[in-house]
Amino acid sequence: MKMAGFYDESISNGLGWRAVLFVSGCPHHCPGCHNKIAQDYNYGQDFNEQEIIDRICENSILKGITISGGEPLCKENISEVLKFIKDVKEVRPNFNVWCYSGYTLEQLKERNDKETNETLKHIDVLVDGRFMEQKKNPTLKFRGSENQRILDIQKCLQENKIVEVAI
Ligand code: SF4
Repeated sequence: MKMAGFYDESISNGLGWRAVLFVSGCPHHCPGCHNKIAQDYNYGQDFNEQEIIDRICENSILKGITISGGEPLCKENISEVLKFIKDVKEVRPNFNVWCYSGYTLEQLKERNDKETNETLKHIDVLVDGRFMEQKKNPTLKFRGSENQRILDIQKCLQENKIVEVAI
């Protein structure tokens, strides 16, 4: 997997102080994409998981990690993303995990494959759905268009209904 970027600290990619990983590669090609360059699976640098985990461990202010892109949950990236989340939780068990995906929760559940299901169990908040230019709204927090939802993924799975995070 290639990495399009990494922020050691951010307060604009989820609630609280967070590290942010941008993976490379996205199959969605949304018109008006905020990070078009990261649609290319070969863009950026090789993802060095240990280096990123070391950088996270050096920073005691962090409350969580956000994984964005690109598309973290496409078939090309999901294995390494899942391993990364599990390894981050080994060293930071209380970390809160946000993930941005162009897939909706319904599409991810429809896959019904072991890897996707396991990944969803390790995510706290899923910001789901493609960016839609006609629904763009710059006043929204943590998302670009009104179709995108900020989901409490564990509640969604446990209660089998859509539960959005109050922002
Ligand atoms: S899902 Fe995100 S990264 Fe992928 S094309 Fe759409 S806006 Fe860009």
